Amino acid sequence: MNFDLSPREKELSKKGRDFCDQVLLPLEAVTDEHGELPMERREAVRQQVRDWGLAGINHSRENGGLGLTMVEQTAIEEQLGRVTNGLWSCVWRPPVSLKFGTETQKHDYLIPSSHGHRRGAFAITEPEAGSDPRRVKTSARLKNGQWHLTGEKWFVTSYNASDFVIVHAHVDDDPDKPTLFLVDKPVNNMVHLRSPKFMHNFAFDHAELRFEGTTVGEDKMLGKIGQGLELTKDWFVEARLQIASHAVGAATRAAEIANDYATSRHQFDRPIRDFQGVEFMLADMAVEIFAAKSMLYRVAWEIDQGLDRKRVHAHASALKLYCSEAAGRVIDKALQVLGGRGYMRENPVERLYRDIRVDRIWEGTSEIQRVVVAGQIRKRGIGVFSEVAWA
Ligand SMILES: Cc1cc2nc3c(=O)[nH]c(=O)nc-3n(C[C@H](O)[C@H](O)[C@H](O)COP(=O)(O)OP(=O)(O)OC[C@H]3O[C@@H](n4cnc5c(N)ncnc54)[C@H](O)[C@@H]3O)c2cc1C
Repeated sequence: MNFDLSPREKELSKKGRDFCDQVLLPLEAVTDEHGELPMERREAVRQQVRDWGLAGINHSRENGGLGLTMVEQTAIEEQLGRVTNGLWSCVWRPPVSLKFGTETQKHDYLIPSSHGHRRGAFAITEPEAGSDPRRVKTSARLKNGQWHLTGEKWFVTSYNASDFVIVHAHVDDDPDKPTLFLVDKPVNNMVHLRSPKFMHNFAFDHAELRFEGTTVGEDKMLGKIGQGLELTKDWFVEARLQIASHAVGAATRAAEIANDYATSRHQFDRPIRDFQGVEFMLADMAVEIFAAKSMLYRVAWEIDQGLDRKRVHAHASALKLYCSEAAGRVIDKALQVLGGRGYMRENPVERLYRDIRVDRIWEGTSEIQRVVVAGQIRKRGIGVFSEVAWA
């Protein structure tokens, strides 16, 4: 077994770290203060992503991307996860479902998205449909060669940074026909209801949209009628790995800050790390990061080895569950080690504490990940998770 990263993987990890330190970290304070990345800063960051060679991180070269393995992507994403305020999302990842489009759709959406000339948001969630997408009420009806979309979508991340939205709707209100549609901005017959505030401040918004008979051509259907969830499944695997990578990066940054502080901060005539109550917190943090990171790179490696799709799906769920929850515990302890300073907004650990909470909710809540893990155990046994052999 070889657990070392290759020279290329190390180089990409360093690039991710340098980009984070030099481009993204300087934007943290302004983003937190402003509530999101100010509009006038966005184009410059987008250009820097291109200049640094980080555009199209998750797509093949033929689709305009960098053609990276999952381990290589993970090496970069882990470092991006160190930044607060969701600024990692400045390094765009065009939705995986776009690769299932027609040649024209790839030409019009995927390739320009990989290059950073276009950006798409993804709209599944609705007021009545969260963990259970069968409750989606947005309907798509074909009339005179046009699809008519009607319904309301919530939490549409990066809507105000996007120029198209992938909308998940049920054809003819049939939950057995979940289907994806490419909807260009400006969207006809659509109301942007609001972009509410959230616990975290994030680079871009999370919008609520109401489609009131929005029309798109027949050529804007992505995949086939009924394929909506199937196409989204691959996206879930990738998004769960991305969340796990960010969680490890965020936990590591918090642990480093706490570790340094435990040495420099003196109380009762000694560094606070000399108190076992503090040092045990540091030990627990290190062990959680150790476990989470080992699991992260294992699952990324398994994907690169072509592990079967069902196992990949199960492992990605277990990974997202573990890493998001472990990072929450690590960052909570880091804040405790910092005392009152950890509670100050100017301290990155305070921001990491707010930021990390959503990782237990989006892209499938912790409970939904447990449903996936438990379902696999029921069908295939504990071995799905306990065996080291994956063939
Ligand atoms: C900041 C943010 C950004 C988001 N971005 C997007 C986006 O870009 N596009 C998009 O489509 N969506 C997005 N979402 C939505 C996100 O995916 C959902 O919030 C998530 O899937 C949970 O759905 P829900 O909030 O409706 O909760 P619900 O599904 O209503 O769940 C409520 C509670 O019930 C529990 N629960 C539900 N079902 C089960 C079950 N079977 N077993 C055990 N417990 C269960 C849940 O775990 C949770 O604790 C975003 C959400 C947030 C907060």
